[in-house]
Amino acid sequence: MSGSEQPLRDDFQRCFEGLAAIGRDPAGGWTRLAWTGEDRAAREWFRAEARARGLDVDQDRAGNLWAWWRPAGPPAEAGGAVAVGSHLDTVPNGGAYDGALGVVAGLVAVAELARRQVTPRRPVAVVAFADEEGGRFGLPTFGSRVLAGALDPATVLDRADQAGTTLADALRGAGLDPAEVGPDPDRLTGLAAFVELHVEQGRGLVDHGAPVGLASAIWPHGRWRLTLTGEANHAGTTRLRDRRDPMLGLAAAILAARAAAEELGAVATVGRVVVEPGATNSVAGRVRAWLDARAERDQTLDWLLAAFQGAVEEAAGRHGLTVDLARESRSPAVAFDLRLRDRLAARLRAGGVEPVELPTAAGHDAGVLAASVPAAMLFVRNPTGTSHSPAERAETDDCVAGVEALAAVVEELACR
Ligand SMILES: [Zn+2]
Repeated sequence: MSGSEQPLRDDFQRCFEGLAAIGRDPAGGWTRLAWTGEDRAAREWFRAEARARGLDVDQDRAGNLWAWWRPAGPPAEAGGAVAVGSHLDTVPNGGAYDGALGVVAGLVAVAELARRQVTPRRPVAVVAFADEEGGRFGLPTFGSRVLAGALDPATVLDRADQAGTTLADALRGAGLDPAEVGPDPDRLTGLAAFVELHVEQGRGLVDHGAPVGLASAIWPHGRWRLTLTGEANHAGTTRLRDRRDPMLGLAAAILAARAAAEELGAVATVGRVVVEPGATNSVAGRVRAWLDARAERDQTLDWLLAAFQGAVEEAAGRHGLTVDLARESRSPAVAFDLRLRDRLAARLRAGGVEPVELPTAAGHDAGVLAASVPAAMLFVRNPTGTSHSPAERAETDDCVAGVEALAAVVEELACR
């Protein structure tokens, strides 16, 4: 390590540890669900860190926080602002890096440029997007979708969390007026680029032996709710041949999802199941399960769903069940802006980093913004490949390499 890296490294460690102190879950990992006390503490932490770096913070109509590093005089050139950042919320019992790393990296990168007396020619913003994970209301990338007009908040304000609190009440509790929450088109049209740095949620960079990579695309992604209805009955007295057991249909469905994903090179997961009545000594009457599926191409996802549906209907016929399969969400493939990606790759190469390009099967705010703003993502190597879990990791050396890459990118896009 050269002596010039030490202030950046120290700043990164102190800043990262400050955020990691918020939302430690006694059950393991970190839990900062949107609009809770932990989330509020993380947002306060963000405001304080930004202020300490001389950045002023404002909030857009979707509840996202923006910390601004502005040119001293009038902008030296036309063109919009450059934004970097990620999110502060986590899934329940999540890891320390998902979201947090990108926000911390943005703050530290801007401070590093200022320390090197680099000055911005256009405004730079570090953004903390609200409710990216959707861990409380099932609405992932809430803040970026509302900002971009891709999600109408009026249609979801009555959604309730597991405790029965509605989104409207949660927003109110966090100091937002639900009636005022909505898109912010002026803010989006004022952006020249958005770059999100994120811990990798797989082992692509491990396989390449690279600390930092560039995203090429985000896989299309869908969520479906499967309801299988049979007949609840006594687990002792009901003969096997008389049963209409929806758990058997569910078992077939889960295996079919796995088989289709393997055949098509996709991923499919049933991670949530609700069984009624949910008694040990009763044959279930109804089961609901959620399928999450992602593939490299939209058509592959269609094929996966068709195979899944066929297998479910076949099993339902065999076990006397009725089937309802409803789509809850579907996001198309996102290809990141090629010119921006090439520019970032060239800049990283000039700094001695050979950027590996890889796709991701995880959704991100950058994927939402990509529909209206040139967007790109930087990934930092994750030695475990695990994410949404306390086992999520990134070595400090790799995080520092990521911050340096992000600083180079901000310098390239906003300071030259
Ligand atoms: Zn994330």
